[in-house]
Amino acid sequence: MRLILLGPPGAGKGTQAQRLVHKHGIVQLSTGEMLRAAVAAGTPIGLKAKDIMASGALVPDEVVVGIIADRIEEADAKKGFILDGFPRTVPQAAALDELLKKKHLKLDAVVELRVNESALLERVETRVAQMRERGEEVRIDDTPEVLSKRLASYRAQTEPLVHYYSEKRKLITVDGMMTIEQVTAAINRVLAALEADSAARAEKKAAARKPAKASKPAGKAKGTTAAKKAAKKATRKAAKKTVKPAARKAKKASKPAGKAVKGRKKTAVKAKSRAAGTRTAKTRKVAKKATKKGAKAVKRLTKRR
Ligand code: ADP
Repeated sequence: MRLILLGPPGAGKGTQAQRLVHKHGIVQLSTGEMLRAAVAAGTPIGLKAKDIMASGALVPDEVVVGIIADRIEEADAKKGFILDGFPRTVPQAAALDELLKKKHLKLDAVVELRVNESALLERVETRVAQMRERGEEVRIDDTPEVLSKRLASYRAQTEPLVHYYSEKRKLITVDGMMTIEQVTAAINRVLAALEADSAARAEKKAAARKPAKASKPAGKAKGTTAAKKAAKKATRKAAKKTVKPAARKAKKASKPAGKAVKGRKKTAVKAKSRAAGTRTAKTRKVAKKATKKGAKAVKRLTKRR
């Protein structure tokens, strides 16, 4: 699974990312953490980022894009990842698109944690107090002044990503004002629905490919029982897939849709005759549609009779 967590500072991205890491066995890639590590280690990137981060502004796009490009290459990211704090600008999102495209990787979803800005300062203050209690080093950008700058950066540069990913139909918005547990549950629910949906789509795709496969041997083994069986199977499958739900719908349909119902009923009759193995001219026509090779086999068989 490949996810992006989107939300202002204090929205709870880090907390939720940790939970997703455990649930899905994927890695959390936090540009904030990586940059802080670079600052602590005094690397060239760290030296470049240090003052920018302390002021609450954003580090240049090419720096973070470079970091992420290298990081997703690593072995532990192969199973999937959660991007936390990246992308933060539209050019970063576009660069990520390119990166994933080159690697033939798909982004599954962008989870936006939506929160009231008024709650953020309080959240960050609580975080700072808890870190102090634990004796941990407090982030230098976790002060009310810098936080308001970080929020301004979020609004101006990151929030446009909500629209960007919504256009791409990747956006899932979750109410980040609920309790941590409730937010986790809401994220899990949407991701489960997403997984079920893509599994169903993959199944449908596979089913659509199957009739053609089944009819292949039929094409070769002209007029044999195997050919007959394969062609029958292919048409029956196609009938099941396309006609039966239509027939079911037709039953439910109301009078004004009379014409459509008639048409659907006819198709349902065709389906029945196909299922029973009766061959009429119409059945042959549908068989042709179902699979070219399968239909050829059916034709050959019926010609002989
Ligand atoms: P926050 O808790 O505010 O979301 P992060 O820990 O994600 O903060 O990031 C801290 C700082 O690191 C940011 O204020 C910014 O200066 C820098 N940074 C992190 N990620 C990015 C990014 N994708 N693009 C530019 N700057 C970034």
